[in-house]
Amino acid sequence: MFARLQSVTRSPLWPRWLPQLLPSSCVLCGQTDRNALCQPCRQQHFTLRPRRCVQCAMPIPTTAKEIRCGDCLKYKPAFDATVVVADYAAPADQLVLALKFGARLPLAPLMADMLAQAAAHDADLGLKLPTLLTAVPLGKLRLQERGFNQSLEIARPLSRLLNIPLQPLLVRLRDTQAQSTLPNEERRRNISRAFVVPTHAMNYVRGAHIGVIDDVITTGETLNEIAATLKRFGARRVTNIVFARTVSK
Ligand SMILES: [Zn+2]
Ligand SMILES: [Zn+2]
Repeated sequence: MFARLQSVTRSPLWPRWLPQLLPSSCVLCGQTDRNALCQPCRQQHFTLRPRRCVQCAMPIPTTAKEIRCGDCLKYKPAFDATVVVADYAAPADQLVLALKFGARLPLAPLMADMLAQAAAHDADLGLKLPTLLTAVPLGKLRLQERGFNQSLEIARPLSRLLNIPLQPLLVRLRDTQAQSTLPNEERRRNISRAFVVPTHAMNYVRGAHIGVIDDVITTGETLNEIAATLKRFGARRVTNIVFARTVSK
């Protein structure tokens, strides 16, 4: 299924033919390469899979008896499972930053391909895959500033690779402050009731197992709020599919 990986995105800002005319280089090592991330760098940095909490994807000891981390057992997040490719640390953070703030859009299908591989790996270990995908929406202002939604850029090729349909299921009611700029205790208030399922999406959400796609999971507050919202609207199960996971507290 990975043969269907496409090396360019379908973003209107980045015509499909453009990357083929430009000399491209690997975002990590700078070597000239057809892809935005060269195969040796991918091999070196993204093949290791530490054992992770099935619910929030925080690394846990390989000897742990529980399949969930202590935080998930204690606080019971609204989402049921999380798939990630890597910790949000060097060099995975460079890919996230280059996509989000450097507009290196050709990275998105590569990140999607690595996510599809991580999902297939977790499915082999018993993870149920969702039946419908959605991308974490940006607020209007943020979308205008950036010109694209990085989560949607990852979600489109991922939907094709996993052969799971992608639907906009959520509306962001306001431009929340970036969670990373806030102290922990303010994050929940910042994100609370920030999302809603619009009328036209309600039928898709009811009874569905939804995969929520994002670039980074930090404290999990945003994804928890989204899962809680989807479940308020009748979703049966929510699985986060996120490229990188912050592991420091
Ligand atoms: Zn490289
Ligand atoms: Zn956990």
